[in-house]
Formats: sequence, structure tokens, C-alpha cells
Amino acid sequence: MKAAFLIKPSKVFDKPLVIKNVKNKDLANDEVRIRVKSCGICKLDLELIEGKREREISEKFPIIPGHEVIGIIDEIGKNVHELNEGDRVALGLIYDSCNSCDACQENRFELCEELKVTGVHADGGLAEYVIAKANKLIKLPSWISDDDNHALCELAFAMKAIGYIERPFENKIAVVGEDLISKFVSEILRSRNIEVKVFVKKNSNGENQDYKSIEKGRFDIAIVTYDIPEIIENVMSRLKKGGTLIYFSQAVIKLPNFFENKKLISIGIPSYRDVRKAIEELRYTKIKDLEKMVFDIENVNEALMKMKQKSHVKFLMLNKA
Ligand SMILES: [Zn+2]
Ligand SMILES: [Zn+2]
Repeated sequence: MKAAFLIKPSKVFDKPLVIKNVKNKDLANDEVRIRVKSCGICKLDLELIEGKREREISEKFPIIPGHEVIGIIDEIGKNVHELNEGDRVALGLIYDSCNSCDACQENRFELCEELKVTGVHADGGLAEYVIAKANKLIKLPSWISDDDNHALCELAFAMKAIGYIERPFENKIAVVGEDLISKFVSEILRSRNIEVKVFVKKNSNGENQDYKSIEKGRFDIAIVTYDIPEIIENVMSRLKKGGTLIYFSQAVIKLPNFFENKKLISIGIPSYRDVRKAIEELRYTKIKDLEKMVFDIENVNEALMKMKQKSHVKFLMLNKA
């Protein structure tokens, strides 16, 4: 099979992915082989490829990146009973976990100390086939199409952020960001008649205000999707005392002031519940119409380069077969 290997993290302009033709590996008893229909590339992949997430990067190189996989099961291991050949499934960030700790027992695999992330600790989906653990896959309903990868990934993050909002009708909520996740969060909250105000880094289109205009002590909850420590810290300082800030960055952030009793929540990886909620949400919403560019595996480096230049466009690798 053809696959895109990251030999070692390096700048996208150096064409870091190498296409190789490799033999299909044998399956373990708890694994399945997925014929990849499509694999999305998101900002997280770019950061991993360029080595910007040192704290999360394993020693496993070369590695096949890609955690937004939709495909068809091609072969199943001996002990796999809940999935069959021909099932259409999604493989996301959660690749494997210990399956025995308290978190795993409650299906909160994302909190397992032994969590393995797809495309980081194990080969991901920028390939014709990917091997996955059967108990980490989600069977997809018909309303999810083969190219809904990004919507699913970003919406799962949005659902996770929304899940942290306690008393949504009483608390004042600010969303600070202009990416897809922040759009999903504000659209979904508004569709539930929950008031939310959106702020951006720099007010350029006159639509949303600059985050520096956030009145001190006005908001109870802020969801910040910018990966810029200054913005996160600034918004934190403007939150109401006792307020909660949910952030998506991996940057080192100054802790809130002792007297202000504020909570800082790093978003982490969406749970299976969040992904299921995202799938349900996609049944009725139109928010899945993203601007996408499709490429084949041979042109994966070109896609990365374009993505670097035009970050609002989402990239998708489609396998023809
Ligand atoms: Zn993603
Ligand atoms: Zn565990």
C-alpha cells in the first residue's frame, strides 16, 4: 500500500512527507484493517509535522500522520465481534488505551494515562490502509459523508468545549477566535437560544469586536481558540472573578491570580461522547459545508504547503479505489 511517512518533524516547505509503497502488516486479534476513503489534515497535523508539539510527540519515526480518517473495514482480527467487513467507520485521535484503568472502564479513553494518539504514537490515515483497534472506532450513520472528516473533528472539539459550560442560560459567555471550532461553538449555542458574544484578534470586517474591548468582569465563561498565550492571558484577566476559561493552546500560560478564583481548562482530546454528539449535530446542521481542497496521496506535501498559506481551507486526501 501507498503511505505518506514523516521521517522526522520538519518545516512544511522542506516537503517532510515521503510517499512509500509498503507491505500490509498482519492484524492483531483486536484490530481491523480500514481501507481509507478519505483523511483530513487539520492544524494539529501541521503542528505535529513541523514538531511544534514536542510534549506530545513520541519517539516513533517514521510515522504516518493523519487522525481524521473515514473508511471501510476490509479485514477483521480474530477477536473482533462488534464490527464487520464492509462497515463504514471513523478513526479519530484516540488510537489505543490501556482498556483497564478507571477512565477506560468509563469509556473516557482520552483520559487514560497510556493513551496513544493516531498519527502521533501510531500510524494514521494518510495512506491507502490503516490498522486500528476495533474498540476505538465509531460506526458512521448514512448522513455522514466520506468527506465530513474535518467537520467531525472540529465539531467534536466544539462539543467538548460546550460540555464545560455550566448554567448556560445564566452565565455570560464569550467566544474568542475566528477558526471553525469557534464558529461551531457560537452557532450551536445560538441555535439553542444561548447568548454568546464573539471576539476576534483584530476587528477587520467590523463584525466582531477586538478581544481587548472585553469589559473587565463582564463574562463568566470564555472559550479561546487562538493559540496565542498573550490573548489567552489577556482574556483571563478580563473574566469575572470565579469565571472559567477554556483554551485550545499548548503554549505555557501564566496561572490566574490567586485572589480571583478563576478556572483554566485545557480542552484536551474529545471523548467518544463528544464525537457522538458531533455526529448527531451533523444530522441537522448545515455547518458541514466547509471550503475543502481535495488531493491524492502523491501530492500530500503540496497540500501541506497550500494549507500553510491558506489556513482557512481544509484539506482532504481521497483514495480513488
Ligand atoms: Zn483534526
Ligand atoms: Zn486506561
